[in-house]
Order: sequence, then C-alpha cells, then structure tokens
Amino acid sequence: MWRRPSCKNFLSPVSQPALVVAQAYVNYDLFRQGEVVKKGKIFVISAASGSGKTTLVRGLLKECKNLVVSKSYTTRALRANEKNRRDYIFVSGKVFAAARKKKAFLEWAKVFGNYYGTPADFVEKKLKTGKSVVLVIDVQGAAKVKKAAPGAVLIFIMPPSLRELENRLRKRKSDRSAQIKLRLKTARAEIAQAKRYDYIVINDNLSRAQRQLKEIVDSECGTEG
Ligand code: 5GP
Repeated sequence: MWRRPSCKNFLSPVSQPALVVAQAYVNYDLFRQGEVVKKGKIFVISAASGSGKTTLVRGLLKECKNLVVSKSYTTRALRANEKNRRDYIFVSGKVFAAARKKKAFLEWAKVFGNYYGTPADFVEKKLKTGKSVVLVIDVQGAAKVKKAAPGAVLIFIMPPSLRELENRLRKRKSDRSAQIKLRLKTARAEIAQAKRYDYIVINDNLSRAQRQLKEIVDSECGTEG
C-alpha cells in the first residue's frame, strides 16, 4: 500500500530546488563480496528532523527481534537529553577524520555543519550473523547505500505537514531559532527526495505509522514477529 507512492500532491510547496545539505560518501569495498548483503537486510530510514523517526525506530526494534540499529559516529555536540554511545558515538573532528581515512565508515556525510558516519564493521558483522540492520541516516547517505547495495530497503518517514514539523521542532527546545529555520529549509529538500525511496510512511498517527513500518519490515524479510 505504501510502496513507491507518488508524493506529488503531498505538502505544498515541496518542489523547491534541492539543497546541497550534505556531502555523502560510501565505502564500496564492503559490498564487493556479495556474501555480505545476502544474509541480513539493510533498512535505511530517513526523515526530516522532528518527523518522529526516533520514536518509530525504537518501537520497531522492540517488535522485530532480528533487527539491530547502527549507531552513527558524529562530531555534533551532545544535546541535553542525549547520552554518548546510546544516541550516537560522539567524537572529535580529529577522531572522525582518522576513522574516515581508515575507511571505517560504510558512508559518511556532512549534515548541518557536522559530520556523521555509519560504522562499516558493525553493519558487516551483523549482516554476516543474519541480523538485519537499520541505518537512520540522511537522504544523501541513503542514496549512496542504495547505489552500493541495491537490496537495501529505503523507507522515508513523512511528517503530516510542514507546520506540524515546525511545531514539533519548537517543542523539542533543543535547537536555537536559526537551527530550526535551517532544519525546516532542509526538510523541504529532504521531502522532495522521498520519491526515490521504496516506501513512504506518513507519521500523522503514531500507532498506524508504527504498524506500517513493521509490516514493511516483515514483508521484506519474509517474516512475522
Ligand atoms: P541529528 O543531529 O538531528 O540527530 O541528525 C541530523 C541528520 O543526520 C538526520 O537526518 C540523521 O538521520 C542524519 N544522520 C545521522 N547519522 C547519520 C549517518 O551516519 N550518516 C548520514 N548520512 N546521516 C546521518
């Protein structure tokens, strides 16, 4: 029901020129051995900030025991409600650059002025043991992963409207006004990329969105529960 729907008439106006919000790179070497992607599946989940992806992903992990989430490295500063190694692996620019040089990232990107990277060894190990891995990454990272691993399933979480997205960002109180403006501007560009995803889930009702997300994972993995 949600597979590759047209989002032409969703949220107006979404047809702004795409912003270059991130430079993303992927470590293609990881996918040279077909074996790596055959076992578990990669699920990429993207959403504009404030779309409720964190809550949805947490719920999904509780329900699907064969799924694990990859924790990204980031150079962003810790927010008040965050914990190192629980939300991200927070590192300095120097540590991030060294990891990048060693090709430790499956893909990496610069988003809102900070670097983010998906640890390649974590993803590889989990896939090899038959686990499916969820990557919660931005639109450019998602495109790179899909190119390198066409079997990856791309899911975009859509906010009910831009107004609602703004309300949620303001309620979060974790960003300054300028950051909120930037996040909203970026959201328009990200939403315009949603048509490239395999699935779009509209988060206007949390329990429905949660159910749809689980149905997607079950149908892609050929599993239930
Ligand atoms: P935030 O700082 O608000 O948690 O995340 C900002 C953006 O960076 C979000 O779109 C998030 O999905 C994305 N992001 C987080 N980790 C990664 C990563 O490892 N790679 C890429 N490409 N994007 C990421």
